[in-house]
Amino acid sequence: MADILLNVEDMKIYYPVAGKKFGTTDYVKAVDGVSFQVERGEVFGIVGESGCGKSTLGRGICKLEQPTGGKVVLDGEDISSYNNSQMRPVRKKVQMVFQDPYASLNPRMSIFDIIAEPLIIHGLTKDKAELEAKVLDLLRKVGLDDYHANRYPHEFSGGQRQRIGIARALAVQPKLIIADEPVSALDVSIQAQVLNLMNQLKKEFNLTYIFVAHDLSVVEHISDRVGVMYLGNFVEVGSKESLYKAPTHPYTQALLSAVPVPDPTAKKDRVILEGNIPSPLNPPTGCKFHTRCPKCMEICKKEAPVKTQLTDDHYVYCHLASQKG
Ligand code: SF4
Repeated sequence: MADILLNVEDMKIYYPVAGKKFGTTDYVKAVDGVSFQVERGEVFGIVGESGCGKSTLGRGICKLEQPTGGKVVLDGEDISSYNNSQMRPVRKKVQMVFQDPYASLNPRMSIFDIIAEPLIIHGLTKDKAELEAKVLDLLRKVGLDDYHANRYPHEFSGGQRQRIGIARALAVQPKLIIADEPVSALDVSIQAQVLNLMNQLKKEFNLTYIFVAHDLSVVEHISDRVGVMYLGNFVEVGSKESLYKAPTHPYTQALLSAVPVPDPTAKKDRVILEGNIPSPLNPPTGCKFHTRCPKCMEICKKEAPVKTQLTDDHYVYCHLASQKG
């Protein structure tokens, strides 16, 4: 039986805004009823364009955003209704790594203090000597040197700052790391180094990752399974092998067609999506993707597609797939 570390059921994260009519309230539905599970030791990639809700979903899981509804069970513990103080001990189990390591590292703290802080907060060291040994060990684990401990964030490159962010997340020995676009701000050559480091640390610390990105090629490098999000919902979820070999949702196909291939002679038909992602304040009726879908049919404008299981580890929400099935 699968060893489930994280179970998310029907998660909703809505933001109230003033309605069109005076005195009414409308809702921006950033995450609109998302369900999925992540197995222990797995890397689950979440992909989609900016504004699809993927980062909000990640923040909702570790309660940096308070979900409007739904259930989150982490390592057998239902944390759905936990407030901030109840979440404090849980934060030892789930940590986040952010896109912009500079913004997430306090510029006035030395690297030593940045990495030591979570160890002190969670009471994970008994004395100063142990604290120092643990901080230096973490620095070495992420490929930095002991002398870096006395420096400040502005003295480091983007890739090094991301390594510091990873060391800080690792300090509490989490079970789950939610990495929100961790390499998007880095040069391509540095991206590969940070991804390799994350892969290596995953094995060494027996970690589970949720890896959020807008780029399917980055996610392919690290993920076991991938979920493609559009306007607050998954439209297709599958194992890496199945999803990249047989992308079924027209949105996944379009995203994949934009991934550059290393072989310049290889032919690839690029699917160009028209327009921008619609506002989650007023999403399209039926299939939310129908306003941009090159394969849109009449039914798509009226009825939301249901889940179609393609294989054991691959499902999609699209009328084309349900009609075939
Ligand atoms: Fe396109 Fe229709 Fe499938 Fe939506 S349901 S992705 S509009 S074909």
